Amino acid sequence: MKAPRELKVKPIRNGTVIDHITANKALNVLKILGLPSKEAAVTIAMNVKSSEMGTKDIVKVEGRELESREVDKIALIAPKATINIVREYEIIEKGKVTLLNHVNGILICPNPNCITNTNEPVKSKFNIIDTGPLMLRCYYCERIMNNQDIEEQFK
Ligand SMILES: [Zn+2]
Repeated sequence: MKAPRELKVKPIRNGTVIDHITANKALNVLKILGLPSKEAAVTIAMNVKSSEMGTKDIVKVEGRELESREVDKIALIAPKATINIVREYEIIEKGKVTLLNHVNGILICPNPNCITNTNEPVKSKFNIIDTGPLMLRCYYCERIMNNQDIEEQFK
């Protein structure tokens, strides 16, 4: 019997390949990107073998290049993700997501009494206090958000 072959996903012509996504987080990444939608063809591979990570997910989005704000969000869910921009079947840009020291205006503070959840025009702001696993602290009320709290917001 032949060994099962690895599933080969056909290359995309134009768009973005998000590789090295934390295993089983592909659907959170789609949520961040507002996908699926009518316009973009999306290919997802989950729990693929990876020499660096053990297992990983891959998302390919045809016809769309990600915005930096979207990349910043993906960093919160999949801190090892790589973003490859493809034009005419060629990777023209290769990058890693980066966690900034501050996460501004992306997440909602879980504390209902936090100033960022009132009618005051104050955007949410979190400081990163740990990266493995990710842990954030609200700049205003000091409420801690752990990995799970963060993922909850991208479901
Ligand atoms: Zn807060």
